[in-house]
Amino acid sequence: MEASKANGRLDEAVGLPDALLKRLRAGELWHAVLLVGESSQAERAARWLAQALLCEAPRADAPCGRCRSCAQFSAGSHPDFWASGDKGLKAGDVEALQAWLATKGHGTRKVYVLRGADEMTPVAANRMLKTLEEPAPETYAILTAQSRQKVLSTLRSRSFTCLLSASPPFLSTDPTSIAVVTRATSAEDPSFAGLMERVIEWTQTWQSGGATPWELAASWQSIAKDVPAEDGLLLLAEWLRELMRVRAGGQAERFGAWEEAVRRIAPILEVEQYAACVQAVMEARLRLQSHVALLLNLEQMCVRLREVTTSW
Ligand SMILES: [Zn+2]
Repeated sequence: MEASKANGRLDEAVGLPDALLKRLRAGELWHAVLLVGESSQAERAARWLAQALLCEAPRADAPCGRCRSCAQFSAGSHPDFWASGDKGLKAGDVEALQAWLATKGHGTRKVYVLRGADEMTPVAANRMLKTLEEPAPETYAILTAQSRQKVLSTLRSRSFTCLLSASPPFLSTDPTSIAVVTRATSAEDPSFAGLMERVIEWTQTWQSGGATPWELAASWQSIAKDVPAEDGLLLLAEWLRELMRVRAGGQAERFGAWEEAVRRIAPILEVEQYAACVQAVMEARLRLQSHVALLLNLEQMCVRLREVTTSW
């Protein structure tokens, strides 16, 4: 009981998404996982995940920190664990890794970490493709990157991307938004009635490129006219965070009633694009405190949103 409590805290500390933790606990983890986040956080998350996969305790308690495997892992001497250097994988590393993979494991599983998948040389990345495509049974690859966008698409397509949730602060749910989102989604507050449907429609118009930034700004002002401007923008930011969460492999959490729309819209942009959009919206919300006219402020925001969707 104590151990699982401690693990619960650790899960939070490393910021791994629930979808990944559920799969890990069910023994159904993907063979290749790409962890995207700030480098020290991605490193911690990768090590935690590797230790959990190798731990000999029941899955719900892993990593237990007490078994022989955990002791070897902490001592840096686990024979079934391999990690590349932190400067990005070189072609020579791939040979060393493949030689290690070809040896018989000491336990039932092997885990390797490829650090800096976004800095990997193209030659090294190409040599890894076959290994990632045809994983040996009970062999797990954990890739880390600061930018998903910079990871070669051939590598991305062979691994499951997980965005680490505690990355820059604007990525995680803003506590001040809880009241606003609750009002918008409970439909009890008349000023919010039908607002989410209009937000969804607006999102689609923006993403399809069917309107100019000025038209988008005017349309946003009109659909959110019954709520304070800062609440409307907070709702938009949370809506984009939800799309980002689902894009990164998580579950719809805050807009569950519109799950069908979330699932349909989320794949349109990449995780990093959603992150940039959230930032643009939060910046516009901050500008509300200055003397910039509302429509001009919204237009600035929409210019940025259009840039993110069209030029990445
Ligand atoms: Zn253990």
